[in-house]
Amino acid sequence: MEISVECPYCGESLELWVDQSGGQVQKYVEDCAVCCQPMEVMVEIEGDDEASVSVRRFDD
Ligand SMILES: [Zn+2]
Repeated sequence: MEISVECPYCGESLELWVDQSGGQVQKYVEDCAVCCQPMEVMVEIEGDDEASVSVRRFDD
């Protein structure tokens, strides 16, 4: 599924692809497509088509 998040660096909205088969709780680092900064993404799968996502700066 795709989820919209806001980049913690540049504030741009991004679409992240979340793989539901990757586990109920997922944590990984992804570079922003706009500013290329590394952000830490935390995903919690809540259902077939629902997930909560939070992002934060990886270098904090
Ligand atoms: Zn960014």
